[in-house]
Amino acid sequence: MKNIKYKIIFLITFLILTVASAVTFYNLYHEQQENERLLNEAHENVYRTYKETIKDIISYYDSRAETSLKAVGVIEAFRTKDHDTLYTIMRPRWEIMQRENPWLSVMQFHNADGTSLLRLHQPLVYGDNIAAQRSMVAYAHKSGQSIAGFEEGRQGLAFRILVPIFDQGVYIGLVEFGISASYFSDKIHRFAGYDSFFFVNQKALGTFGRIEYLVRIGEHVGIDIPESYRPLLQKYAETYNKLQHSIAIHTNQTYEVNTIQIKDYRSQLLGAIMFIRPTSDFHAHARHMIVASVLIVIMLSLLVGVLVDRIYTFITHKMSFQERYSQTILDVIPSPVIVTDGEYLTAANNSLLEYFNYPNVQSFKNDHLCVCEFFEAGDTDEYLMPLHDDQRWTEYMLDHPLKSHKAKITVNGVSTVFEVRISVLKVNEDTRYVVIFNDISTMQIQTITDPLTGLANRLHFTMVYQHAINIAQRTEKPLGIIFFDIDHFKNINDHFGHLMGDTVLQQIALLVQERTRKSDIVARWGGEEFILLLPDTDLDEAIRVAEMLRKVIDSEHFDQVGHVTCSFGVAILEGNEEGETLLNRADDKLYKAKERGRNKVVF
Ligand code: GH3
Ligand code: MG
Ligand code: MG
Repeated sequence: MKNIKYKIIFLITFLILTVASAVTFYNLYHEQQENERLLNEAHENVYRTYKETIKDIISYYDSRAETSLKAVGVIEAFRTKDHDTLYTIMRPRWEIMQRENPWLSVMQFHNADGTSLLRLHQPLVYGDNIAAQRSMVAYAHKSGQSIAGFEEGRQGLAFRILVPIFDQGVYIGLVEFGISASYFSDKIHRFAGYDSFFFVNQKALGTFGRIEYLVRIGEHVGIDIPESYRPLLQKYAETYNKLQHSIAIHTNQTYEVNTIQIKDYRSQLLGAIMFIRPTSDFHAHARHMIVASVLIVIMLSLLVGVLVDRIYTFITHKMSFQERYSQTILDVIPSPVIVTDGEYLTAANNSLLEYFNYPNVQSFKNDHLCVCEFFEAGDTDEYLMPLHDDQRWTEYMLDHPLKSHKAKITVNGVSTVFEVRISVLKVNEDTRYVVIFNDISTMQIQTITDPLTGLANRLHFTMVYQHAINIAQRTEKPLGIIFFDIDHFKNINDHFGHLMGDTVLQQIALLVQERTRKSDIVARWGGEEFILLLPDTDLDEAIRVAEMLRKVIDSEHFDQVGHVTCSFGVAILEGNEEGETLLNRADDKLYKAKERGRNKVVF
């Protein structure tokens, strides 16, 4: 029973665990999918912003170059390589352009021979050969086409746009705009909320590269990395050996890391921009979710444990109440009652224990497997035996519900006859038989005894008579019967009253009973007629008995009445004669005895 409790708790806990695991893994899977989707979306967003920014800035400075060159005197000054005039014309425009875009760090005019004509950002330095130092400039001179791309320079890493200048179809040089890398960082920060850093491939770093702080990730070197990001990027560098989309964790904060490759004017890879922003940490979240699930499972299991325990206690209490309740009902019944599963005793009432003299059911069970061990055979087939043709007594009773069932039990030398009744109690799969043993010994005595004389009555006589005939016929032993009737009994009644008549009847009954054997049955047939059943008695012996009784009564003095006689008819069972015939023959003889003057024995 206790096992069931633990089984239930285990089963429910297992169910909770299964459901919680399934829900957790389903959620985790979906969150991971969602996370990946968001990362991809973020990357696309950054990439688009970057591309558009590049496109916009190229077209913007293309048009700035065009308008600048259209200004009066610019081409002229360019053609004559007049540094001062060009500076005078361009300076106000440069200032406007700088105000328009604070990230504009370079505007320079290049002569076709590769020398610098005017640096608006550094007007005092000019005439130096730039094409010799910067391949991008050399390439622009050679191609005569607009080119754009990232390049290291005196001003650091910048996006450079070089636009060729023609004077009436003759190439005379270039105008260059340089926008510092921070411009892109700023744009992307404003559009997509990322902080961004430039990483340049070490091989592509110019000879005059000016790196403020070195963070190396694989072949790449970080440029102008702010103090606050250095530990994070150091950690990133330790985890990954190249720039890649990933998650970086630093001081309990997770960051989403995106990269976009940057190219120089020849579309050669120069490095990458790294975009970083704080994000929710999927792995941490997953860990939290699993921890939460585990906690929920533990709490639910505890709850289930407590609940099941409570319910179990409640039910067992209820059951013990039910048991006590049933036991009380059983104990109220004055007759012995047992409850059996058909084989073993499961309960019994006080009356039964008292009858068998046991203090409790267990001690009875220690000595006896079944009450049926006590069953004794009786003179009819109504008496129960433990087995009836291999059928258990309980089943036999259920199979013969109309038949009356009796059990004869002897305890301490005292035999009792019980009338036995059975009821079936089905509880789920279990079958219980409730068997009640009603003591009919006294009742039976009353029903088979003549109350006036205490002799067996006619009912009793008929009950034993057939049995006696059967035995006599089987054993081939003689069986005698004697019918006798008090002579002129009516006169006694008439003269001395009914009560005196009764006394005579009692006195004669006593006389007869005293003079006959224990095995003989003396019965009052009715009125003042008696019958004697004499087993194992032949005719001579029966006549002798009848004669003896006749004499005894004849010589007896009856108080007040005085002398009383009886007439006797004697008969012996012949062969396979019916009981009825034998009775008729004996009755016939009695009639003859009366005819012949009474106080006679006729056979
Ligand atoms: P007989 O010699 O031919 O047998 O004559 P009888 O008078 O004995 O026979 P009868 O059948 O005429 O009368 C029997 C009487 O017995 C009638 C009845 O009132 C009486 N009797 C029957 N039972 C009882 C009884 O229990 N007590 C008493 N006092 N009388 C009874
Ligand atoms: Mg009579
Ligand atoms: Mg009579």
